[in-house]
Amino acid sequence: MAKKGENREAVALQCTVCKNVIRPTEKNKKNTVEKLTISKYCPKCRKHTEHKEKKI
Ligand SMILES: [Zn+2]
Repeated sequence: MAKKGENREAVALQCTVCKNVIRPTEKNKKNTVEKLTISKYCPKCRKHTEHKEKKI
């Protein structure tokens, strides 16, 4: 049986606009093989911006 948490990886999300790194999140390595690029609210830009995954 697969161990719990095996496919999870801690990543930080970095705003592509201001380079502000927001709090670490988890991604599922099995479901998300490629680098994450998601639209998220950036408190620095004070709007939704593209965030890229960043290794911790
Ligand atoms: Zn930003």
